Amino acid sequence: MTRISDSSARRVVILGTGGTIAGTSARAGDNVGYVAAQLQVDDLVAAIPGLASLSRRGVDLQVEQVAQVDSKDMSHAVWRRLTAAAERHLKDPQVCGVVVTHGTDTLEETGYLLQRVLSPLKPLVLTAAMRPADALQADGPQNLLDAVTVALQPQVQGVLAVLNGVVWAAAEVRKVHPYRLDAFSAGDAGPLAFIEEGQLRPLRPWPQGLPLGAAVLDPEIWPEVQLVSSHAGADGRIVDLLCEAGVQGLVVGCTGNGTVHHELFAALLRAQSRGVAVLRALRSGSGCILPGSAHDALPHAASLTPAQARVELLLRLLAARRR
Ligand code: ASP
Repeated sequence: MTRISDSSARRVVILGTGGTIAGTSARAGDNVGYVAAQLQVDDLVAAIPGLASLSRRGVDLQVEQVAQVDSKDMSHAVWRRLTAAAERHLKDPQVCGVVVTHGTDTLEETGYLLQRVLSPLKPLVLTAAMRPADALQADGPQNLLDAVTVALQPQVQGVLAVLNGVVWAAAEVRKVHPYRLDAFSAGDAGPLAFIEEGQLRPLRPWPQGLPLGAAVLDPEIWPEVQLVSSHAGADGRIVDLLCEAGVQGLVVGCTGNGTVHHELFAALLRAQSRGVAVLRALRSGSGCILPGSAHDALPHAASLTPAQARVELLLRLLAARRR
């Protein structure tokens, strides 16, 4: 994918997918019982004076409603549509960056998918909100303005998440709090940059990588990859049942340094020997699995969350189909 071939490009495309950022409440000030994905993305844009002033200064803002979902209900079909739309716009030399409005619940999964599939040389910026659009403390407008500001920066690349004044690598970020406005973390990796009063303050290099390409998502039917978790009292029955049902991949949320209850571990080894792809991921939300334990007989997903590891395994299985 080329970067900006027209150096005067000042177009940012905003793709709407729903989420709390587009949510409204029946009762004023209800930050819990609101309904996500109610407002159209063009209404969100129209409500932010800072975006109107960018337009007056020559920034061409275009919007497209790709989906309208609470991101807890994110589907593979929406992922395919969103990835195709993002790829199409990023290829346009007139476009300097793309912004995606999203829910916070599965932002870490969508972000990971977009980075692995597109690895863009332009900014592809996810943003979201912890409060609905009509809340007293609505965080969506500032987050969306910050995301567009980041998408306009010619030196920035990769899939990013901009929330609460912090720029994260979307493939590293994870939601760590159900309520606070500072609900995200990247574990040990930390933020990539801060965005303060419209000024970007970078801390480390922008994400890079070899893109798999959006065509990897083309198959109508995707491999089945399920998540299981190790815990006190775990046994292998769930794994055996999933294998009987024809699962192709299993991610296990692990305790400690990627450890698994011995009964579950035995079932996962059986699954692996039957050709099911297995990946270990940390249950704890930060840190990185260190090699050297007896559990190394099952591969691990380093610092990915279990939900991101599921995306990784899904993409590996999809990519293997193309070879
Ligand atoms: N359930 C909402 C969603 O993920 C939560 C949010 O956006 O904050 O769409």
